[in-house]
Amino acid sequence: MSEASIDANSNRRRLHALGERVLAGGEVSREDAGFLFQLSSPGDLGDLLAWGNRIREHFKGNKIHLCSIVNAKAGSCSENCKFCSQSSFYQTGSPKYGFVDPEPVKTTSEEASRNRVTAVGLVAAWKGLNEGPMLDEVCDRIREMAKDGKVRPDASLGIIKNPNVARRLKEAGLECYGHNLESSRRFFPQHCSTHSFEDRLETIRHLKAAGIKICSGGIIGMGETWEDRLDLAFSLREAGANVVPINILNPIPGTPFEKIPPLPPMTILQTIACFRFILPRQEIMVAGGRTVNLRDLQSMVFMAGASALMVGNYLTTLNQSVEKDLQMLQDLGLSPDWENHGFEDQTQPITFKPAAPPEQAPALA
Ligand code: SF4
Repeated sequence: MSEASIDANSNRRRLHALGERVLAGGEVSREDAGFLFQLSSPGDLGDLLAWGNRIREHFKGNKIHLCSIVNAKAGSCSENCKFCSQSSFYQTGSPKYGFVDPEPVKTTSEEASRNRVTAVGLVAAWKGLNEGPMLDEVCDRIREMAKDGKVRPDASLGIIKNPNVARRLKEAGLECYGHNLESSRRFFPQHCSTHSFEDRLETIRHLKAAGIKICSGGIIGMGETWEDRLDLAFSLREAGANVVPINILNPIPGTPFEKIPPLPPMTILQTIACFRFILPRQEIMVAGGRTVNLRDLQSMVFMAGASALMVGNYLTTLNQSVEKDLQMLQDLGLSPDWENHGFEDQTQPITFKPAAPPEQAPALA
């Protein structure tokens, strides 16, 4: 047997052992995850995606959770995130307006509900939220959405330093807050210096203490290494994220990242599958940048382990139509999870089960 086929067999056995362990309720270690992120042959990547799909199906069935966002306050942001067209540091031509009135939120919620979307997030381009008239207005919008009952009201409103702000949002009816860690702790200063990774973790701690579920993920393709992606996934596991959006950089002209070359589609799919191994029960949501980066491979995100999709247009860029996304799900035999507004399937504790060493792993059928 050649050296290459010995390696292929050993990789296949190790993948099989890790996949079975996750299906049985166990966890992968950092070392195991490093093995997954470093697989590179087409055969191994095919096996990895197949396991990502199997783990998704085991924990999520054929349901796909759909989310939309409404840009509730656009542009002129005080922060310098290098991927973002809404930062006041860069000239990008993206729209600028103040906090949104009730009517556009109502229209978005109605449209989302018609399209079988579970949740709509109010997203604001500013550093964060403090006590004051703006918090009152935000709470009014959330209350209106909750009362309307068409969709789950979510929000992504930046950094929260005051635990009372999180409590007020919860009282208004907020169930889930979007707050990406964006990248690894090591890589974070490469894309933002006006706030820190720790600021983001602190916000998540305040939200969790108030009983709000966490939607937190990151952006891949900013020049980070696979180790940074691995570290991000483990930080999200430790932070207790319920929904994990994976955005893929869509380089915006005028931002410092405008010339970053795109990630190969197979690297994106590999990252999704690795996240599914590390975060088996969480919703893994493919969000911004999927259309431009994955092109014809978009439908493969579910076969790699994604269980949720951001639909409708993104904050400042266009997406494919919701009708096309719904058709894609139907063609794959998947169904939008529009009746399940809860997070029950992520609450079971995960207990670590040590892996059998690769050489003792069961033989493949
Ligand atoms: S990502 Fe958010 S915080 Fe950063 S510049 Fe854009 S709107 Fe501001």
